[in-house]
Order: sequence, then C-alpha cells, then structure tokens
Amino acid sequence: MRTKDWAVRLKLAPNVQSASRAIVVGRGTAPIVKALQLLGIQDILVTDIIPETLARTKADHGSAGRLGNELGVRTWEGDFTELPAYMGPADVVVFCSPNFGTQTSAREAMTQACMTVRPGGCVLIATDVGNDWFTPNFPPQREGLASLVAGLPCRIHSEQEGQYAYCASLQVPPSYRLRSPVLLQGEVVRGFGRGSRQMGTPTANIDPAPLQAALAGMSKGVYFGWAQLVTPEGWPQADAALHKVVLNIGSRPTVNAGGEADTVECYILHDFQGGQEFYGCHLRVVAVGYLRPELKFPDLDALVARIKADVAATQLHLDSPSIADHNATAAAILLKEASAA
Ligand code: ADP
Ligand code: MG
Repeated sequence: MRTKDWAVRLKLAPNVQSASRAIVVGRGTAPIVKALQLLGIQDILVTDIIPETLARTKADHGSAGRLGNELGVRTWEGDFTELPAYMGPADVVVFCSPNFGTQTSAREAMTQACMTVRPGGCVLIATDVGNDWFTPNFPPQREGLASLVAGLPCRIHSEQEGQYAYCASLQVPPSYRLRSPVLLQGEVVRGFGRGSRQMGTPTANIDPAPLQAALAGMSKGVYFGWAQLVTPEGWPQADAALHKVVLNIGSRPTVNAGGEADTVECYILHDFQGGQEFYGCHLRVVAVGYLRPELKFPDLDALVARIKADVAATQLHLDSPSIADHNATAAAILLKEASAA
C-alpha cells in the first residue's frame, strides 16, 4: 500500500498526531515509518530482533542519537518484550510483522506494548498483505485479535482488512479507573516469605479463599486503591487511617515455581511503626483502578524496578482529579465497613 494510504489509516487511530512518539516493531517497518513521518511525527523508534531490519532503517534514515531528546528515527536491537523502560513511554506502538519483534509470543509482545503506551494511546497491528507471510494467525483477524488481547488493558478500537493491507487498532484506556470500586477484606496471613520485606516492599497477604466471588470478576494484575488496617491495641491513630495501597492479584509469575494458588498482596504506602508486622489483623482494601497486567520479569531487580514505577503511578493516579469520585466512594465504603464491624 502507498505511504499516503497508510497515513490515512494510521491517522484514524486514537492519539496519533504530529507530537506523538511512535515505536515501530518488526520487519516491514519502512512504509509505516514513512507514513508516520507524512503525518508529521518526528520521534520514531524502530525495534526488532533481526539486525537487517534496523540496518535498513539506518540506511533509509541515518541514525539519530540513541539517547537524549534528539528527534528523528532511532533504532534499538533486541527482543521487544525486553524493551528498556527508558525507551518508553510512547503514544503509539505499531507491530508490522508476524514475529511481533520477539522470540516469545505475540501475546507477550502485546502485553509489553500495553505497558509501553501512555494512557489513551494505541497499539496497532499494521501490515501490507504480501506474499511472503503465510504465517498462521497473522494478521490475527477478528476472533484471533480478540483472543490475542483478552484480559489486557486495551480495547479493540477498529479493525480493517483489505485486499492489500491489514490494520487493527487497540486503545489503552485513557484512565485506569475501575467501573466501580471493589472491596476486598480479610485476615492478614503469612505469604511465602520470599523476601518482599527485604526488597523494601512488604506485602500484606489477605486470605484469598473467602474472596473468590469478588476476585472472579477481576483480571489478574496490579491495582491501586485505599487500605485500612484494624490495628492492634495501642497502635497510634495514624496507623488506623486510610492509606494508599498497591495491590497485586494473581500468581506472581516471577517467583512462583508453578502450581501455587493465586494471592492478594497489598503493599501499603505507610510506615507502620517502623515496619511492625500485623499478621492476624483484619485488613480492608478498596481497589479503585487498574495499573497493569501481571508480568513475568527476567529477575528480581527488574521486578523491584517495576514495583517502584507502580508505586509512583499509584501516587499519581490517586492524586489525580479524574479519580476523586472513586476515592470518595472508597472512603465511604471503608467508613461503613468500619462502623458495621
Ligand atoms: P509474607 O510473605 O508473609 O507476606 P512479606 O515479606 O510480604 O511477608 O511481609 C508482609 C508483612 O509485613 C505483612 O503481613 C505485615 O505484617 C508487614 N508489614 C509491615 N508494614 C507493611 C506495609 N506497609 N505494607 C504491607 N505489609 C506490611
Ligand atoms: Mg507478602
């Protein structure tokens, strides 16, 4: 398809405008890069695991600086699922080829893309329909696309299949609000003691067994919200107040050897008397927003770095006016539960 036709299609996707930052992934990026440039987009990163793709990009566009704020077409060679955080965030990620720039899977690449894109931005699958790819499930098309992104924080915005090209557009939600706040509460139980505390992020594990009904309606992943602890006798009033919380619902793929039940783990952003333990206490948590799906990190350092980013995002979202009404609802729910107890 011609550059101009691609530009027309790409322009329809949410948040694709001249000031956007774009990441273009995989073989066959050349027409997409040209179309993005035609739309005035100047900040473009091309990534692939295959060096030839990048060699071609460099030949076409020269090589802008690898770091810094220099505009232009830059390249990064590596597996897209391992894209360093400083390469993001982007407004749009475009996948151009069946390998999705990774040796893992299309699904993991999509997950990474959802986390690399800013809220409100989009992930595109855009490819010319050539003779060279009779790859099963690519382009994914309708049901394939739906299952590729099921459970990920994005929605199908549009899908166009033509004789010469395929273009699917997925939008990452502009805000991370849950439809309505969700109350989870129970006794703080012992976890697997895998050193959350040593990592500086203790997670109070709530006994998940009685929560099955509430959990059934929630995707696994990382949420943010408000927590209130029923403190032991004698603890200061401040400890019993409402505190911000980052909560993880799921199977902890980085440390789980497999076969362990899902957990609900709450990292409360408050210093309880110098990190005192409170096993056996009753903990109430209201989730108001969703941050990201659960991910498997290559090592603990990467996990810790991501947790720090999650904490920063939690602070930001909970202080944002766009979530103020949910915060008020959460406070009301916690007050009601406390007075009913
Ligand atoms: P476990 O594997 O048993 O859950 P962690 O290393 O995750 O152990 O530590 C969690 C425990 O740390 C909690 O159950 C709680 O008693 C204590 N703790 C102290 N401060 C906090 C906090 N701010 N957030 C969560 N838990 C905390
Ligand atoms: Mg824990």
